[in-house]
Amino acid sequence: SRATEMSVPEFIREVVDISMQQARFAQVEFDLDLDETMPRISASATELQQVLLNLVNNAIQAMEPEGGRLSIGCAMDEGQAAITVADTGPGIPAANLGRIFDPFFTTKPVGKGSGLGLSICFGIIHQMGGEIDVESTVGRGTRFTIRLPVPPPAR
Ligand code: ADP
Ligand code: MG
Repeated sequence: SRATEMSVPEFIREVVDISMQQARFAQVEFDLDLDETMPRISASATELQQVLLNLVNNAIQAMEPEGGRLSIGCAMDEGQAAITVADTGPGIPAANLGRIFDPFFTTKPVGKGSGLGLSICFGIIHQMGGEIDVESTVGRGTRFTIRLPVPPPAR
């Protein structure tokens, strides 16, 4: 869990590589929009990978069984590094939106979901000094946005 300097676009491509087979099997197509010019961030690659893989797994599961589109983007946003993970799944009902980051909140059948994924994501991102938010429209899909601090340029 040691922080290292990392390229966000490179990091996202690694996550996509890891998830490629699973996505293909689930008929999920990736759509990447990566700003290659964004500054490097300082973060634990293993922890950030755990966060992204959780979001990707949730998105792929949400789009079962018909599949869909999984859009991952990165860009600078108001001085922070923003990573977005958006799916074309069923969305999250408003009544659940405030609870999805709670430990053990799950809508999945017993044995399928622990309800811990997003609470772990929340903990990791906040420990890094960042934020994670969700926007969702029932019937259209869900978008998670992570914002992480960018270290000032070395001088
Ligand atoms: P789990 O995946 O084990 O259920 P999570 O903490 O990862 O636990 O997610 C909690 C709940 O949030 C899920 O059960 C689901 O109801 C909802 N959720 C998370 N991601 C999505 C998504 N991309 N689309 C729709 N619902 C989602
Ligand atoms: Mg999950």
